[in-house]
Amino acid sequence: MQSRLPILIFAALMAAIPFVPGMPPFWIVLLDNIGLTALVAMGLVLLTGVGGLTSFGQAAFVGFGAYTTALLTTAYGLSPWLTLPLSLVVSGLLAVLLGLVTVRLSGHYLPLGTLAWGLGLFYLFSKLEFLGRNDGISAIPPLSIGTFRMLSPGSIYFAIWVAVILSALLTMNLLDSRTGRAIRALRRGHVAAEAFGVHTPRAKLLVFIHAAVLAGLSGWLYAHLQRAVNPTPFGAQAGIEYLFIAVVGGAGYVWGGVLGAAIVVILKEVLQSYLPLILPGSGQVETIVFGILLVALLQLAPGGVWPWLMSFLPERTAGRKPDTSLKLEARPRPPGQSNVLLQVEKARKQFGGVVAVNNVSFEVQAGEIVALIGPNGAGKSTTFNLITGVLSASSGSISVLGRKVDRAPPQEIVKLGISRTFQHVKLVPDMTVLENVAIGAHLRGHSGPLASMLRLDRADEAKLLAEAARQIERVGLADQMHQLAGSLSLGQQRIVEIARALCVDPMLLLLDEPAAGLRHMEKQQLAKLLRDLRDGGMSVLLVEHDMGFVMNLADRIVVLDFGTKIAEGTPATIKTNPEVIKAYLGVAA
Ligand code: ADP
Ligand code: MG
Repeated sequence: MQSRLPILIFAALMAAIPFVPGMPPFWIVLLDNIGLTALVAMGLVLLTGVGGLTSFGQAAFVGFGAYTTALLTTAYGLSPWLTLPLSLVVSGLLAVLLGLVTVRLSGHYLPLGTLAWGLGLFYLFSKLEFLGRNDGISAIPPLSIGTFRMLSPGSIYFAIWVAVILSALLTMNLLDSRTGRAIRALRRGHVAAEAFGVHTPRAKLLVFIHAAVLAGLSGWLYAHLQRAVNPTPFGAQAGIEYLFIAVVGGAGYVWGGVLGAAIVVILKEVLQSYLPLILPGSGQVETIVFGILLVALLQLAPGGVWPWLMSFLPERTAGRKPDTSLKLEARPRPPGQSNVLLQVEKARKQFGGVVAVNNVSFEVQAGEIVALIGPNGAGKSTTFNLITGVLSASSGSISVLGRKVDRAPPQEIVKLGISRTFQHVKLVPDMTVLENVAIGAHLRGHSGPLASMLRLDRADEAKLLAEAARQIERVGLADQMHQLAGSLSLGQQRIVEIARALCVDPMLLLLDEPAAGLRHMEKQQLAKLLRDLRDGGMSVLLVEHDMGFVMNLADRIVVLDFGTKIAEGTPATIKTNPEVIKAYLGVAA
């Protein structure tokens, strides 16, 4: 957990600013605008920078928040404090609606989709009679507490910055939790997150709602600062600008959103006030200069200004070690040792004209190590994908403990106690090893997003991190626990994936080329670990090209060639099988 001390210092600073003698009122106006913009940008950080969902439509949600309170306080005389939850609920509900249609889009279609609703909603705001069409709604009451009416920019300043700081805290709490790890995994694609039980459409919808509620909060504050609303600030152009702000500040960082807002609001103001003095009569030239400056800034700090600034601080590689005495509940095991854990029967997978897996059958018993070998392109990884539900078989069937799981999605397969690693490592590089591994325990935790934001998840969280730490120690990476996963060697990253898979408390572990990139000593340690796991009752199915490693480790070997099983047996029989020698091992083996 990160220290919250810097936030307290920041909050104290912001609280002191209005009391600085001689503070120009104009600066306070500027800070109000920065705060309002920061709220929207913070939502985009979560949505775009962390979740990988690009949205050009965020300004529309500011509009929902602003128009909700504008309408209800003027036409129906409701108190602004009563309309606050309503503004947030309206923004949130519309995010569910727009999110449900948009989040399933991928690639370029998602940003285009958000742009489309950004444009559409702008026209809706400007055409609806009860929202005042292009003139909007005016005479909105100010916020007030008792007889204190927040009429000046200096008085609503506190409301705005309390909102910014609380939102930053809640957002950071969310990111630093079970749900937050699921959200942060989204950017690396669905496959890895889903393999550990994350319901990715739900996680995406959640960030959509979170971002929309923050935008709605900004809109609510805006309406009571300006005391009038019209459609202009809620159009697609504003939506593009918000995204830009998040990117300039550093789209992966909550404080990047705040910093980006400060940079852009101040830069715009400076250009608007000083450029006409340098270049009189030049009209729109500030827009051009503004654009050039921002592009230059992004050249200097391509990941955004916040991470660029942070890179000057010493890197944190140490952290608090979780209390490993805390335990999660273990999976109930079926009695007896002679169970057929996994049964693959005539599984077939065709990609167009290529038959990647051709009527392959084999079994894995409880407590044995089975190796799946064969030349590149033989269909080994595809077989893994069929077993784990990433792909569904064209025909044939797959059963786990006698139960058919042919059509089950990855989230259901992992619940049955089957976990895996990937041939092409799928870790989140800018998360620590500990955080990455904890994703493996996702299904063994229970805390939801609200509990996480309010820090009511700490007991649950401590157990998840304890489990992750224990598995990291077990695979021998205790010293790297607090390093970013992306900074490890590829071989070590494969081992991190094994620790993540072990966090599932699996009955069957599927390892796709786990020894690739490991040194001799590391391979021996891995072999020892896998033997220990087997002796503890776990089954392992592994794909590996290092024949020395496989022959010494496996109880049984299944050989694939061009998608077809050509042999199965003990290492001794496979070594001497003429067909296997011809297809894969070669004469030298
Ligand atoms: P292996 O892991 O044994 O090297 P794979 O299972 O990755 O082999 O691939 C088997 C065959 O299926 C290859 O010809 C590969 O090109 C093809 N293949 C694998 N995945 C896909 C896919 N998603 N789409 C199309 N073809 C694929
Ligand atoms: Mg493969």
